[in-house]
Amino acid sequence: MAKVCIIGAGGVGQVVAHKCAQRPDVFTEILLASRTKAKCDAIAADLPQPVRTAQIDADDVPTLTALLKREQPQLVINVALPYQDLHIMDACLAAGVDYLDTANYEPPDTARFEYKWQWAYHDRFQKAGRMAVLGSGFDPGVTSVFCAYALKHHFDVIHEIDIIDCNAGDHGQPFATNFNPEINIREVTAKGRYWQDGQWVETEPLAEHRTFDFPEGIGPREIYLMYHEELESLARFIPGLQRARFWMTFSENYLKHLEVLQNVGMTRIDPVPFQGHEIVPLQFLKALLPDPASLGPLTRGRTCIGCWIQGEKDGRPRKYHVYNICEHEACYREVKSQAISYTTGVPAMIGAGLMCTGEWQGHGVFNMEQLDPDPFMRDLNRFGLPWVEHVV
Ligand code: NDP
Repeated sequence: MAKVCIIGAGGVGQVVAHKCAQRPDVFTEILLASRTKAKCDAIAADLPQPVRTAQIDADDVPTLTALLKREQPQLVINVALPYQDLHIMDACLAAGVDYLDTANYEPPDTARFEYKWQWAYHDRFQKAGRMAVLGSGFDPGVTSVFCAYALKHHFDVIHEIDIIDCNAGDHGQPFATNFNPEINIREVTAKGRYWQDGQWVETEPLAEHRTFDFPEGIGPREIYLMYHEELESLARFIPGLQRARFWMTFSENYLKHLEVLQNVGMTRIDPVPFQGHEIVPLQFLKALLPDPASLGPLTRGRTCIGCWIQGEKDGRPRKYHVYNICEHEACYREVKSQAISYTTGVPAMIGAGLMCTGEWQGHGVFNMEQLDPDPFMRDLNRFGLPWVEHVV
């Protein structure tokens, strides 16, 4: 039904390419383009249907526009890095192509992600008659859809949302990040922030934590309050929301390494003079750490990511839990990736599929919770991320 162009051939790009290639009825043609073509070729060699590859620097807007005009895909699935978002949106507008990503724009020189830069594209996408969908990963993405689904089917009003992200897996490495180390460490070392009574409350990085008992045998784990991008769009699009928080599990080992790296300055993102050159310590650290894609065969265990929601239905208080559990080894058997890349790449493919089939339509820039959650929830069950819900 549609030709798509996937940009980015990292851990997530590999999953998106595999999952799109499993649905030739929807994704009739796939172009996989990234900065390093060899990575695209290595992924393509393993796919069940032929996929063409291309070299592209997505920050070079004229060249990317020319590629998109030549290839004429219906949609770009952007799974490069957040730094490329605005450049890829510019090229999509210039070439008349729809757009979807999994992470919101972040300026390279400031560790601060916000939707304002991408929301500012709404009018231009609307005028061009094109659709841009932001944040179709797991969190943001599935978690945003979980909230929209809860509001549609289980609540008259939602008061509180706690998004809880647990990786109970183990890769056996002394220290590694499950997705791009630079993006991951920038996110984790930032100040915490949550939505309360119409305003943002800031906390010191990872200062607030508690023990949470996860379902299905995962058991108690320490969860840490962080700022995460879907809080910004949920605060805007879920009416009556009084509190929204995001929590993530970290092992003591991960936190100890991170503390030492921070103390010695290795997580700095400003350039530092070194032997006649300038280097950014965090970028150098990324070069030393294991490539997240290499963790696939090593990672054992499960992830559990979901939303714990409170509100009212028919004048009575209600609690609702909805989550997915995903096993690292099963992901690797299917697409040669660990569950963090899998739980991001599958929702990107599902969102793209709904745009290609026309089940999701619109002109402008949309966050996931603005769109009909039902077909997305259906496809999570069909394509590898089944969910469980409990009304309490
Ligand atoms: P990786 O670092 O593994 O992959 C990024 C890919 O983008 C690499 O292939 C890289 O090329 C390519 N790339 C970088 N810069 C450019 C450029 N200028 N032009 C073209 N290609 C470029 O990252 P991940 O796969 O782990 O993450 C991908 C995205 O998914 C990130 O934005 C991340 O924030 C997001 N994410 C979202 C999650 C969610 O749940 N919503 C969870 C996890 C990740 P090269 O190979 O040459 O370096």
